[in-house]
Amino acid sequence: MKAVLIEQFSQRPTIQQVADPTPNNHGVVIRVKATGVCRSDWHCWQGHDTDVVLPHVPGHEFAGIVEAVGKDVSKFKVGDRVTVPFINACGNCNECHSGNHQVCGNQTQPGFTHWGSFAEYTTIDHADVNLVTLPEHMDFTTAASLGCRFVTAFRAVVDQGGVTAGQWVAVHGCGGVGLSAIMIASAAGANVIAVDIAEDKLALAKSLGAVITLNANTTDDVAAAIKEVTNGGAHVSLDALGHPVTCVNSINCLRKLGKHIQVGLLLAEHATPPIPMDNVVANELQILGSHGMQAFRYNAMMALILSGKLQPEKLLGKTIALEDAIDAMVDMDTSTSVGVTVVTHF
Ligand SMILES: [Zn+2]
Ligand SMILES: [Zn+2]
Repeated sequence: MKAVLIEQFSQRPTIQQVADPTPNNHGVVIRVKATGVCRSDWHCWQGHDTDVVLPHVPGHEFAGIVEAVGKDVSKFKVGDRVTVPFINACGNCNECHSGNHQVCGNQTQPGFTHWGSFAEYTTIDHADVNLVTLPEHMDFTTAASLGCRFVTAFRAVVDQGGVTAGQWVAVHGCGGVGLSAIMIASAAGANVIAVDIAEDKLALAKSLGAVITLNANTTDDVAAAIKEVTNGGAHVSLDALGHPVTCVNSINCLRKLGKHIQVGLLLAEHATPPIPMDNVVANELQILGSHGMQAFRYNAMMALILSGKLQPEKLLGKTIALEDAIDAMVDMDTSTSVGVTVVTHF
C-alpha cells in the first residue's frame, strides 16, 4: 500500500510502498477514505511523542471501510462504514469496565502507538470496543473530522462540563477544539464567550454561535472582563489552547462553584502552570481534565449532528491528496489555514 513514511524525526517524510497490514484477532484493517491533518501529527513528526517508533506512519483522525476482520471480532464485518475515536481502549481493564475508555491504561492510538491513517489502509485493535458505525448519510470527510478535536470538545462541554441552557460558557482559544466547543455549547443553549488573539478566529467563533468575543491582546484583564459581562463569572470555562495564561484566565473568570475544564495539552515548560488555588478553595471551583471520548458516546453526538443542531462540516477546511499531507503536516506549526484539512485522495 501507499503510505506517508517518517524515517527520521523532523526530516521530510516521503510516500513509500509498504506491506499491506493484516488484522490482529480482535482487530480490523480499514481502507482509509478520509483522514484529517492535526497539530498532533506535527508533534509526532517532531519526535515529541515517546510512543512513536521509527519508521512510522502518522494519522489518527479518519473514517473508512472495513477491509479485513480478525477472527474474534463479532460486531463488525467487511464493508462496514466506520470511524474511531483517537484513543482506542482495551475493553477489559477497570477503567473500561467502568465506562471510562478515554483513560484506558492499555490504550492504543493509531498514528502514535502503531501505524496510522496517512496510508491506503490502517489497523484498529479491539474493534468491537472502538469502532463506530457511520450514519448512512454522513460522508467520510465529515466523519474523519470528528475523531480528535470534535469529540474532545463534545466530552469537555457535555460530559465533563455538564453545560446546560442559559449558562455562561467561556472558551479560551479558538483553534479546532475551541471552535468545536463553541458550536457544541451554543447548541446546548449556553451563552458562549470566545477568547483569542486572532480577529479572524473570533469572527469564525461568532459565526458558530459565540455571543461575545474578546481579543486577549487588546483586553487588559480577560478574567475581569468576563466576570463583568456575565455579572459574576462563567459557569463553565475551557482552556482549549493549553497554555499557563489561558489556563489561569479560565480559572479566574469563573463564578462561585464554577467548573474549569482543561482540554488543551500543557506540555514541556508549560506542564505546571501557577494554578490560583486560593481562588479555587474560597469559591469552591472545580478543576477537571478532559481527554478524548469513548466510542459508545458517539451515539449522543451523532444524534445531534443528524438533527442539524451540530454542523461539524462548518469546521472543514480544504481537501487534499495523500501526497499533499506531507506539506500540510510539516507546515502545521506555521499554517494559518482555517478549518480541518482532510486527505480524501489516496
Ligand atoms: Zn488530532
Ligand atoms: Zn482498558
